[in-house]
Amino acid sequence: MKKILILHTGGTIAMEEDQDTGFVKPQGNNPLLKFIPPSNEIDLLVEDVFHLPSPHMTPKEMLVLQQLIHSKIQQDNIDGVVITHGTDTLEETAYFLDLTVRSNIPVVVTGAMRSSNELGSDGLYNFLSAVKVASSAEAKGKGVLVVLNDEIHCATNVTKTHTSNVATFQSPQYGPIGLVTKRGVVFHQAILHRESYRVENVTKNVLLLKAYAGMDGTLLTAIEALPVDGLVIEALGQGNLPPKTVPAIQRLIGKGVPVVLVSRCFNGIVQDVYSYEGGGKQLKEMGAIFTNGLSGQKARIKLLVALEVSQNTNHIQNMFQN
Ligand code: ASP
Repeated sequence: MKKILILHTGGTIAMEEDQDTGFVKPQGNNPLLKFIPPSNEIDLLVEDVFHLPSPHMTPKEMLVLQQLIHSKIQQDNIDGVVITHGTDTLEETAYFLDLTVRSNIPVVVTGAMRSSNELGSDGLYNFLSAVKVASSAEAKGKGVLVVLNDEIHCATNVTKTHTSNVATFQSPQYGPIGLVTKRGVVFHQAILHRESYRVENVTKNVLLLKAYAGMDGTLLTAIEALPVDGLVIEALGQGNLPPKTVPAIQRLIGKGVPVVLVSRCFNGIVQDVYSYEGGGKQLKEMGAIFTNGLSGQKARIKLLVALEVSQNTNHIQNMFQN
């Protein structure tokens, strides 16, 4: 008998559409609580943790989920975890847990694009798929997985790509690592690299900024005046920035604020290729930290985690090399 911990957090998967107005909102009773496991070989341990639309989710709630998982692993000997979550910030919670849950059991995050009473609702189906994956032996040791629309994605690469389509979750450049079929679960990609950090608190303030043509130092100068512990910039192309941003970035790095660069392109990695003013070479020489293909929102989660683990810039830089 497999024991699967279910942690409900809210989101569309737990909401209903008002038949008169068409607006979607949370309801008193989570419809998934009526769910019966697909086989009598699976025992569900259900916790209704939050009732939050995922734009209300913060790293504090992500930490609560991590701590709950650790305590249930110890107390209840669970074999897997399914978390239901709103899709807007699902990838951030999945990645936070991927970096901080210290266990090999499958942890699967799922959600829905259509609420429980809408035509073609995908909630129950995705939930059933997530339970199947969380109880499969092959899902062990693969880190946190995101399961929707018959696809299994790893938390590092997956992102929400469409505002309303049920096929919204994709892993640009890499694709899903497995599929959910009628009969079971099939993996076709191995996870080559996993990282895990001991994080017991999230206390840091890390901001995320997107670069654009003609950007100057105004926003960066405003950030300098804030109590900020770290900054992620979605830079242009391979990791370049408009020249007027450079002096403020230099000052931030000089004050010991780690500045992490990702690309606003959603494929590829950032590198110190260009040597003009604001080019990657200059930014790297100034001490900006380059990443290996993370999105801005994931790099922000990683910097939040990294700053809890270390205050040493070289150490933080090494964490982003992975
Ligand atoms: N806005 C909703 C949320 O993230 C969307 C969803 O759940 O899919 O909570």
